[in-house]
Amino acid sequence: MGDTRFFQPGLIRCITKVLMVIQILMCLTSAYGLRLRNLSDLFSAYGLSVDRIEKIANFLHIDIDLDVVLIECDTIYEFHQMTGKPYHIGAIYVDGVILTQPFSILRQKGVFQSTIEHELLHHLINRNFSMPNWLEEGLILYLTGTKIEDLKGPHKDALSRFMREVSYEDIPNYVARYRNSNCSNHDTGFQLSSETRSGP
Ligand SMILES: [Zn+2]
Repeated sequence: MGDTRFFQPGLIRCITKVLMVIQILMCLTSAYGLRLRNLSDLFSAYGLSVDRIEKIANFLHIDIDLDVVLIECDTIYEFHQMTGKPYHIGAIYVDGVILTQPFSILRQKGVFQSTIEHELLHHLINRNFSMPNWLEEGLILYLTGTKIEDLKGPHKDALSRFMREVSYEDIPNYVARYRNSNCSNHDTGFQLSSETRSGP
């Protein structure tokens, strides 16, 4: 009892939140039978190359932070149920978590490497910049050499706009204005709230 006085209320709230998120993740994992994978294991197990990611990270002057949770769905149906995304979307990225269709399906389609790269770049860019969605998407599609004729909907729009508004040489300067002042590579979603701030 006496020990709790050493904890600030903000810290206790933060720990409670983190525990809740872990519980939710564990529930999701057991309910859907998902397998959580470590990204470095993934690269070695599947022969994925980090070369392009490294080149892009150097070009954007950002560190490669592989601190991301990768969740592979067991079936395409499960992926669709969890994300609400159409079947032509291979993966999504949300707040440090990449959720993918079954790897075997992505490999059959020949998009495994490109899909993981794409989502990983969302992770790296999110950690280092706060840029508009169209710019983030367009930048990733452009730097990974995606052809505009292979795209649909918002992805196609984002790449078209990017190519209209940004030239290759301008990219580092163009994106620099969106760089986070605090590039600590930590998830900003669970920072301690100060005691003077109330609410979630
Ligand atoms: Zn994307």
